[in-house]
Amino acid sequence: MKGKSIFLGLSAISLIVLVFMAIFLWYLVAPRLVQIHPGLPIVVGLAMAMFAMMVTLGLLLILISTATEKNLLFPGENQLTVKVLFPITLAVGKLLGISKESVKRSFIQVNNALVRSLRGKIDNSRVLLLLPHCLQNYTCMYKITSTMENCRRCGKCVVGDLAKLAEKYGVVVSIATGGTLARRVIVETRPTVIVGVACETDLTSGIQDAYPIPVLGVLNERPYGPCRNTTVDLKRVEDALRFLLNSRFELGATVSPTAKKAGRYDQRTAAPV
Ligand code: SF4
Repeated sequence: MKGKSIFLGLSAISLIVLVFMAIFLWYLVAPRLVQIHPGLPIVVGLAMAMFAMMVTLGLLLILISTATEKNLLFPGENQLTVKVLFPITLAVGKLLGISKESVKRSFIQVNNALVRSLRGKIDNSRVLLLLPHCLQNYTCMYKITSTMENCRRCGKCVVGDLAKLAEKYGVVVSIATGGTLARRVIVETRPTVIVGVACETDLTSGIQDAYPIPVLGVLNERPYGPCRNTTVDLKRVEDALRFLLNSRFELGATVSPTAKKAGRYDQRTAAPV
């Protein structure tokens, strides 16, 4: 819960600020509303109070869903978190002197918890493993953005191991050099769910752009600074893939190469069809 608390705390502060602003606004317009009808300030006040209560309840459900990884959200509430709440928390965080990176990291953790809360309800028929180009060794001469098949798996960077992981789990893997290319990959491969590896900035914008496709985000590591010779914890990527495909692998099944090549296998049981 610790890493998620920045985003959730800022969301709560945003809510309190919005409620006070609404009360102040009501206080300003109430005298004019009385001139229209004496009962109007009460009606408007009640409507505003009901709206504030619904938003508070929504935030409470996000908090419980995040903490328990059990989906209690209203339909469409995930969209509210991704599209509305995140930009507000970024702005409030800036006012309070909290770094953008911390807010984004926290948002990614909340997003992952909410995706995990959908356990058993996620369509895992087309899983895409989307990787950033900066994972490739800077001196490597093979062009892997067109196809990962070009990687020689020489061990100089983590790309070869990620290609092996994608092969092991029978998921589509793609490398994108930026947001535009990542969006194109998503349009072309039409995934039902994504495991995305990237830095805080690219992951948060990717989660927003991909919505409503659920994205499990894994942050990359940058021992040589940003955008060059980055790496990623393979176990965390594998955990994310296993979570999405768990029903298939809990059965201990494996995809036969022939069935995989032909694309004729049950996505859940891995049995050829
Ligand atoms: S593992 Fe693949 S991408 Fe990385 S350096 Fe070797 S050939 Fe290049």
